Formats: sequence, structure tokens, C-alpha cells
Amino acid sequence: MTAADTNAPDPAAAFVSPLATRARAALDAAAKDLVALSHAISADPELAYTEVRAAARCADLLERGGLAVERGAYGLPTAFAARVGSHGPHLVVCAEYDALPGVGHACGHNAIAASAVGAGLALAAVAEDAGLRVTVLGTPAEESGGGKVDLIRAGALAGVDFAMMVHPSPFDDFATPGLAIEEWEVVCTGRASHASFAPHLGRNALDGVVAGYTALAMLRQHLAPWQQVHGVITEGGQAPNVVPERAAASYYLRAATHEELEELRRRARACLEGAAVATGTTVDIRTVGHVYDPVRAHPGLVATFAAACEALGRPYTPDPAGSEMGGSTDFGNVSRLVPAIHADMAVHSWPAVNHQPEFAAACITPVGDQTMLEGAAAMALTALAVAADPSIIATGAR
Ligand SMILES: [Zn+2]
Ligand SMILES: [Zn+2]
Repeated sequence: MTAADTNAPDPAAAFVSPLATRARAALDAAAKDLVALSHAISADPELAYTEVRAAARCADLLERGGLAVERGAYGLPTAFAARVGSHGPHLVVCAEYDALPGVGHACGHNAIAASAVGAGLALAAVAEDAGLRVTVLGTPAEESGGGKVDLIRAGALAGVDFAMMVHPSPFDDFATPGLAIEEWEVVCTGRASHASFAPHLGRNALDGVVAGYTALAMLRQHLAPWQQVHGVITEGGQAPNVVPERAAASYYLRAATHEELEELRRRARACLEGAAVATGTTVDIRTVGHVYDPVRAHPGLVATFAAACEALGRPYTPDPAGSEMGGSTDFGNVSRLVPAIHADMAVHSWPAVNHQPEFAAACITPVGDQTMLEGAAAMALTALAVAADPSIIATGAR
């Protein structure tokens, strides 16, 4: 689906209203601080569930902007909720700020955080007059774990009417499909022995892991489009002269639907169990964190967001090759519960893509900073359009 496929009321009036002008002025006034926030988080990467400094940086700026900030919200030490507004539709803007092992902020979550804070500061200036309740929700652990699922289970979406977030990307895609994903920790257990003196008494756990990895690599040819499995070997033994008793791998399984994910689970499990039988080892497969749902983009929000970008002088720029992007997000689980948009916004980095070091750099260039600010502005304008015309989120199949 593209933004053009949807029908929504003409929101243009809300984009040029006095409220919109005030919101944009508030954003302009905060622009320098937002760029500094984005760069500071980028320079100080923290992994899932340990984003102490990133969460504090966001919370501090929101507090200075007049929002009521609850740190460690919903029982998660690195979550926060910053609230403003007393009546009207309730918007949640998700701020991600976790980094990746080895490549730091190569997914640009620093810019996501700054855009979300920017939207919060822009809307704080007008929420009461616009009739809008806004919560900027600090959501830890997107790259691994699934902090949004923890937050949902703790009640963070209770009474919420719609949700938004933006994500830096090589190209625009305001209706990202997002794949379901499940993470597996796989441990093979064999028997240690002297690799030369008595190899026949050993059972090689590394062989179990390697055979499983190879079987999965062969399985790939026969998977449906967007059924994916990829992994890394995380433990492979201690020394060549000791038959490895324990070896381990980490895999991600992805699919476009829950049904296809279930089928992939069965087939992947058969690969790993077959490898264990072949090598005389045993295999333990453990699910890590939460299963992420595919993303459901709300057509009314997608159309309104695209129109907001147009009004900002930032036309929609999808991949000219027309390819759909993969990837997964725990925002998918949010999108199953409330009308939602996860807008991928171009930082014009191609051929640098998310999870490459070059992409981390692209997210803190002047172009990356501008995208971050435009994401904040587009979310604020979209929210004002919904406040002016709540039918945007009341209509439209999800
Ligand atoms: Zn990522
Ligand atoms: Zn990401």
C-alpha cells in the first residue's frame, strides 16, 4: 500500500491553522536542543533495556518543555511517559533509543527519540487549545526483547486513541508492512573428550550447531517470500583439543503473517533437531523476548501524514526501485491495538542501509537532522488534523 491508496478527509486546513503555526514555532525554538539530543544519544549507544542515559536525556528535555514526566514508567526502569493535555483524543508518540551490539546507533534510534521529543514539545504548546492529550512514551528494547510489549502488558495503551512513530530509513515508506519476528536462543549439548586421544568418546556440540545452521541455510531456498531465518553462532567451544560439550546460536525467524511464522517455526525446529540426531547431541530451543506482530498501517493516518509532509515541503520519496523493505518492529504490536502509523522517513543514505555503520553516520548529518525535525513536525501536524477531525482515526479499515 502507498499513501496514495488511501482516502482521508482533507486535513490541509489543520496544517495552516494558528495552532499549527504555534506548534511549528515551538518546534523551531527547540530545534537546536533536538539536534543536540539526537547527536548525544548517537554518540553514547546503550543496548536494549539498559538505555539509562538516553531515556534521561529525553525525559529532561520534555520536562523542560513543560510536560509531566514519569520516569521508569510502567515498571520498566528505562521507560518514561511524558504527558500533556487534559481532553480530546489521546495520542501516544513512541520514542525508541536502544542501540545495536557492535554497530551502535546504526538503526538511527537516536533520531527516532529526538523526533518523538520534538513532536511532544511542539504539541505541548497547543495541546490544551487543540483538544489533544499527548503522551510521549519512551519505549526501550526495540532491537531485541520487545519493550513495547512489556509496556502494553503493563497498561500503557489503555485509553489511547492512536499512536505514531517515525524511523529513519534510506527511503520513505509511510505504510511499512513490518514482518512478524521471533528470536531463538539455541544451545547444543554434547560430551567433552580429548579431540585426538579419544575423539570417539566425545559428541561434538559445535558440529550440532554447524549442521543445524547448514540445514537452515538449505531450507532458505524453499521458503515463501518474506519468510526469513538468519542467525549467528554465539558459542563454539573453548579449544581445538577439547571436543566442545556446549555450543550455541542465536536466530531470528520472520514472516509476513503469524500463520507463516508458525510454519517456519516447525520447519526450522526440524532442521535443528535433525542436526542434533545426526551429531549425537541434544538441542534446546528457547524463545527470547516477545513475538513481534506485523505492522498494520492505518490508512487515514498514512494519508494524513503524507499530506502533512507535502505541506512541509517534503514530498513522499519512496524507493525508486519499488522494492518493499523488510525488517520488524515491536510497534507492530501497538498497531494491532490502536490506529497507528510507523513512518519510515528517508535520510537519503542509499546505498547505506539500517544496521550498517554508514547509516549511523547518515542519521547525524545535516540531512539526517532535517529528516528528524521534519518527522517531528509531520507527527505534530497529523495529530492536530486528528484533533480537528477525529473521523480520520474513526474510519478506514485497518
Ligand atoms: Zn534496527
Ligand atoms: Zn530500528
